[in-house]
Amino acid sequence: MEAAHRDILRKNYSGLVQAIQPVQEVVDKLLQFKVLTCLMKAEIIEKPQTSFDRELETDKTELQDPRCHIDLGNDVFVTAKMWNDELNIHVRKYDVYPSGRSYPTKRGIVLSLKHWLELSGVHFKLQEAIDQGRTHDYAHVGANMYATLDPNGGVDLRQWEKYEHLGRVVPTAKGILLSKQQWQKPRDCCDVMTDFVPELKEMVPCMGQEDHQNQIGYLMCSFCNPNSDHKAVNNVPRVQSDFFQKGRHA
Ligand SMILES: [Zn+2]
Repeated sequence: MEAAHRDILRKNYSGLVQAIQPVQEVVDKLLQFKVLTCLMKAEIIEKPQTSFDRELETDKTELQDPRCHIDLGNDVFVTAKMWNDELNIHVRKYDVYPSGRSYPTKRGIVLSLKHWLELSGVHFKLQEAIDQGRTHDYAHVGANMYATLDPNGGVDLRQWEKYEHLGRVVPTAKGILLSKQQWQKPRDCCDVMTDFVPELKEMVPCMGQEDHQNQIGYLMCSFCNPNSDHKAVNNVPRVQSDFFQKGRHA
């Protein structure tokens, strides 16, 4: 594809792509051919009223009684709940009806307790980047979940996965783009979450574990180095290069 054609597609990406169904497949293809950047994909699947959104059924697991339901603003909530004997923490957008009842949407992400433990460190790292005036940065939460700085000050918290044929990680639909204000609140949630989830008190972040005190231990860890190529250092710039592609707001 010629650069000029790619530019035309990019300028119109949002409307064009949303008109096509199913959105997920189309954006994956456009990503593969480098018409869209990873963040453009995230933006498309975050937009309400796409066919991606309409296809979603309420996730039954979301209807379980949560241990907590913390409001991040704009109908996004942090909830801790059990499902299949597993306790996870969800950051999720809810549809709120005029009756006052709210229903979880699929726009969100499930964090294991292991992921949750990393969140305050991730928050700190991104805040440092913001304080230094950087508008593009990211932090690895664990197991290919990334928190990516949005140029508008928000943060995209999303599961990525390695595409072997592309040789790099790409974002999946599992995630949520939080506004600047919403992103500030999970930091506060980290402080209170142990009240709701005392299990967290017994846990230490992955990097704090004894077998991570040498580099081999870290490289062998599927959470810290999920793509198991034992070249964590080489893997990161591949993510980064995508974030630096221009044209997201063209
Ligand atoms: Zn680890």
